[in-house]
This record gives sequence, structure tokens and C-alpha cells, in this order.
Amino acid sequence: MKAKGIHPGLAVIIVGDDPASRIYVNNKKKACEYIGIRSEEYALPAETTQAELLALIDELNQNDALDGILCQLPLPKHIDEKAVIAAISPDKDVDAFHAVNVGKIMIGDYDFLPCTPAGVMELIYESGIDIKGKECVVIGRSNIVGKPMAMLLLHDHGTVTICHSKTKDLAETVRRADIVVAAVGVPELITGDMVKEGAVVIDVGMNRLPDGRLTGDVHFESAAEKAEAITPVPGGVGPMTIAMLMKNTVKAALLHHNEK
Ligand code: NAP
Repeated sequence: MKAKGIHPGLAVIIVGDDPASRIYVNNKKKACEYIGIRSEEYALPAETTQAELLALIDELNQNDALDGILCQLPLPKHIDEKAVIAAISPDKDVDAFHAVNVGKIMIGDYDFLPCTPAGVMELIYESGIDIKGKECVVIGRSNIVGKPMAMLLLHDHGTVTICHSKTKDLAETVRRADIVVAAVGVPELITGDMVKEGAVVIDVGMNRLPDGRLTGDVHFESAAEKAEAITPVPGGVGPMTIAMLMKNTVKAALLHHNEK
């Protein structure tokens, strides 16, 4: 890319001083530096109005030196996240949250995949696990993780069930799964007795306990006794999410310069 004069640039917007968001943004900037992506941080105070944020996004959309725009979520309560996601130009939407990109994923003809589900798929591929015909259970139905996760497993011919807070018998449903993806936000909700012998268990959850420890949605020790493969927290899906952000930014830069 350098030889062709392509130098990917990513705008990273952070509003307010949420400590978890600060850590995520710093990690993303560090990854950019590591692989040679130019990152520009826009740190705005918590009182920033929605109009001010939308004006900045408009400016970044038009900035030819930037290929990707990331706005770290969650945003302060007075800002409508949907309006912010909709304002980012779909071709700079490296998080793949914009409705245009979500629609493209749905029909299986996309440029960008959302980073966390894409990272989970990469873990599955790299581990040589075949999804075709497998019972896949995704726990969680958020727009950024659960729903696209289910869609990607479906594209790869999994038989997919999505569970959520109204699911009647979560334990019984999870017990059927050859591949379990937990994206809930409830510490250690999935325990070993819910895991089928030989299942693949992927833990997306990142939960900060009162004692400061970071834990996933899966009780690692008991689930690991049953699972053929399992991801830890921290150190599993989290770093993959960042890697996929880098991949999307590179792709955005290539598309921007009419290269595939
Ligand atoms: P979210 O928007 O809060 O969605 C949580 C989902 O879990 C909802 O669909 C909810 O059901 C469901 N749920 C809640 N309690 C449940 C229960 N007891 N049984 C079954 N389902 C239940 O969260 P998210 O943004 O998808 O994130 C999920 C987790 O992943 C969080 O811990 C988050 O920090 C983590 N995360 C990690 C990464 C990473 O890079 N590793 C990236 C993004 C998120 P309803 O829809 O019925 O409310």
C-alpha cells in the first residue's frame, strides 16, 4: 500500500470520560500505531451537544485524508446513538453499524463486517472448526454483537438459535449447542453443566466485577472441562475485535483508492 501511496487514516471519536471507553480507545490507537495506520483522536467533553458531534462527523466524512471513522460507544445519554451511527458515511463506517452496512451483511454482499462477530469467526476459522450443519447457539441479540453474529454463523451454514433475556430454558438450549457464543454482559452466566461435551465455547462478555477483576459471560473453569475449545477473558475475543477494526480500516483505504 505504501508503494502505491496509500496510507490508511482512522478518526477515533470519544465523548466524555468513561474509563472503559478510554481503555478501548487507547488500545485501538496502539494497534493503529503498531501496524502503521495513522489515527487521529477527537476527544470531546461529556457536555458536547448532538449537533456539535454531528457537525464533526460531517467534517470527517468529507476529509479525504481519513478512510475510517469510529465513534466509541456508549455515548452520553443526551446524544442519540442511532443518529450518530446514521451520520457516519457508510464507506467510512469501519464498525459496520450503519444501516446500509447492516443490510449488506444481511444479504451476504458486504465490504465491512462488525469487528466483534468478525473476530469470533476468525477464531473459529483459524482453529479449523467447520460450522456447516452445526447447532450454533448465540446468547444475546444486540445490534452490534448478537444479531450479526447469528447472521455470520448462518452464512457459514450453521443451524442457528438466538437466545435472549426472555428465552424460556436457556440451559437446555445451550446444552444442544456444538458452538456457543455468549454475548450477554452477565458474569459467568454460562456454566459447565450447560455445555455439551466437545462443544466450542466463545465468550464475548467483558464484565468488570466489584473487586476490579475482568470476567466473561462463561464460567471458564467448569466450561473448559467439557469444551473442545474455549476462549478466555481477557485475551480471547477482545484482541480479535481490535484486529478486525484494523482489517476494516485497511479495506476502507483500499476501497477509497479504488483497490480491492
Ligand atoms: P447488550 O446490548 O446489553 O445485549 C445483551 C443481550 O443479552 C441482550 O440481547 C439481552 O436480552 C441478553 N441477556 C441479558 N441477560 C440475559 C440472560 N439472563 N439470559 C439470556 N440473555 C440475556 O450487550 P452487547 O453490547 O451485545 O455486549 C454483550 C457483552 O459483550 C458485554 O459484556 C460487552 O461488554 C461485551 N462486548 C465485548 C466486546 C469485545 O470486544 N470482546 C465487544 C462488544 C461487547 P434482551 O435483548 O432480551 O434484553
